Amino acid sequence: MADAPSRRGLVIAIDGPAGAGKSTLASRLARKLGYLNIETGAMYRALALKAIENDIDVDDERALVDLASSSKIALEPQMDGNRVKLDNTDVSTRIREKDVTDAASRVSIHPAVRQWMVQKQRDLGANGSVVMEGRDIGTAVFPNADVKIFLDAAPEVRGNRRFHQNPTEPTAAVLAEMRARDERDRNRPVSPLVPAKDAILIDSTNMTLEQVIERAEQIVKESVSRLVG
Ligand code: C5P
Repeated sequence: MADAPSRRGLVIAIDGPAGAGKSTLASRLARKLGYLNIETGAMYRALALKAIENDIDVDDERALVDLASSSKIALEPQMDGNRVKLDNTDVSTRIREKDVTDAASRVSIHPAVRQWMVQKQRDLGANGSVVMEGRDIGTAVFPNADVKIFLDAAPEVRGNRRFHQNPTEPTAAVLAEMRARDERDRNRPVSPLVPAKDAILIDSTNMTLEQVIERAEQIVKESVSRLVG
């Protein structure tokens, strides 16, 4: 791995629970480094949307894999996140709605669905120079990633999307829904949400976005000097 940076640019994995600020960090970091920014959650969301549209049961693993295999899910990295296309239709806004958010968290527990997604995600990151964010990037998708960051924050902070301009108190319903998703992510048998053993933790509970970005850049720099040194 020592010659990885000069050969193909780094693979930077950012994992963590919902609402910790992973997407914002990943897109800002990618922009600074001139890397691609891949939001893997958007792929699970796109499949969940297709299941909803086709009346496929989110508990039916086989049907979901068949559906995935006949779908075209494309991520187009932009300056401020990923545009998501499902079978050539832009679904970037639709996949953020509540019904899809809930279905995505259910779709993602199935091992065969994960296997399909992981393969696609490895292909997307195969050339390096990528900041990939999700739940299992440092543990399953790229266990040999050059940099692994686990971004966390207290649930109350995650619930109010603190990096937005006007943070508001999370409602009880928002918190409950987020905790349910966390539970499912942390307790699924395959690729549960856990920090990789060699991930560096950033607890952003009391940090500003700028502080988080600064810390992440420092981690990247340290990793690069370790790799080339
Ligand atoms: O990150 P985002 O909230 O968009 O992800 C949607 C859902 O997809 C999550 O609730 C999680 O269950 C699932 N997911 C996953 N593994 C990833 C990315 C997302 O299981 N690498």
